[in-house]
Amino acid sequence: MPLYKSQTLKIYNSLSGEKEIFSPINEGNIGMYVCGPTVYSNVHLGNVRTFMSFDVIFRYFLHLGYKTRYVRNITDVGHIVDDVDDGEDKIAKKARIEQLEPMEVVQQYTVDFHDILSLFNFLPPSIEPTATGHIIEQIEIVKNIMDNGFAYEVNGSVYFDVIKYNKTNNYGILSGRNIEDMLSNTRDLDGQSDKKNAQDFALWKKAEPQHIMRWPSPWSDGFPGWHLECTAMSTKYLGNHFDIHGGGMDLKFPHHECEIAQNEACTGHTPVNYWMHANMLTLNGKKMAKSTGNNILPREILTGENPNLSKAFSPSVARFFILQAHYRSNLDFTNDAILAAEKGFYRLMEAVDGLATISATTNSSIDISSWKQNCYDAMNDDFNSPILIAQLFEGVRFINLLKDNSATLNSEDLKTFKEAIHSFVFDVLGLKDEKAVGNNNIKLEGVVNMLIGMRNEARSNKDFAMSDQIRDQLIVLGIQLKDGKEGTTFSVQ
Ligand SMILES: [Zn+2]
Repeated sequence: MPLYKSQTLKIYNSLSGEKEIFSPINEGNIGMYVCGPTVYSNVHLGNVRTFMSFDVIFRYFLHLGYKTRYVRNITDVGHIVDDVDDGEDKIAKKARIEQLEPMEVVQQYTVDFHDILSLFNFLPPSIEPTATGHIIEQIEIVKNIMDNGFAYEVNGSVYFDVIKYNKTNNYGILSGRNIEDMLSNTRDLDGQSDKKNAQDFALWKKAEPQHIMRWPSPWSDGFPGWHLECTAMSTKYLGNHFDIHGGGMDLKFPHHECEIAQNEACTGHTPVNYWMHANMLTLNGKKMAKSTGNNILPREILTGENPNLSKAFSPSVARFFILQAHYRSNLDFTNDAILAAEKGFYRLMEAVDGLATISATTNSSIDISSWKQNCYDAMNDDFNSPILIAQLFEGVRFINLLKDNSATLNSEDLKTFKEAIHSFVFDVLGLKDEKAVGNNNIKLEGVVNMLIGMRNEARSNKDFAMSDQIRDQLIVLGIQLKDGKEGTTFSVQ
């Protein structure tokens, strides 16, 4: 029996503003779409946090035994600077500044994005479609919306008619914004735009003559609006009605609001059952910004090369630090906070290593089943990773009691305990046992340096038989000594 049958999972739905019992459209199957990066610059730490939230959600679905199709797109065209329809495409702008082909920009930052995510031990999504790979599907959706009367064409560009849509539907259903307030808060169009109303958004934009990123369409040679790609790719791979749509909190409006409007204008019904939004990451209590220096790139955490950091941290320490906050809470990154997380992480890893040395007895003095269910309850409560981590530290306490012989477990309970610890630490949270590797390397270095010292002493005593023996036996073990001006170093084969 799959695990999900014995667990009741609740998800906070941004659409209702409540935690709801999760029930997928097709039993045992989940379709999840998450808005991916716009690949025109290096991925920042806030993005890493957002994608990590959904990585853990994906991992938990897999752990529960759901067949999960996780679609996360790559935005390689159509994302306009400042989200203003009359602005410039972010990728085209970067390509112009760096004198590159737009697809060179896309390639460079897509590779970087994948590198960063694999450094932090992310699982790849099931499908990673690109906006440029789905132009035909996007044109079809524009045609549908026009046929249904919710879009209009002006000078080769097509806009979504928000005012008309709102007469029969609710524009603002997700963000809670009211169209009257939106209208009274926006400036009048300055005559530069083709739009009828400031709230209308582009479905298709006519390309200027110098614009390289362009495709033929019934209206003009141009490119799709940003919101359109996610409607096209989510429904293509997950169907017109699917389980979960996620993204960063900043995408709720206008991006996700516009997606709902496009879907409803197309199919007449809401596309998604559960909308999920991950919260932001701040640095030292403030928004991250390159211009003020209040900024850390993901790779800099691993090298320590940033004035906001006192040292380098391992990818798992960074992961552990991020997952200590619930995905819907704001997370403030400070050097002190990640130092504290590092201590906690190594304490957890030490305990996990120690678990292997514990042997079973005939009786159990700890209720492992209840503890294990507490771990599930944490994740079932809207993926509450900080509560899960607190439960894992309760597990650390048990391990220490067992090591001291102050508690006992029978063989069945010990097996359950070991499996649960490994599942939650490595499979669900996606941590790696870096302590063990790091620790062994330090120990190895200590032992070899001790032998180098003994060899030096033998040589100064002209005991060449002994010094050669040390060197040769190390070679047998795959450790090569190298004598140089600065002393003797070693390499491991
Ligand atoms: Zn999107």
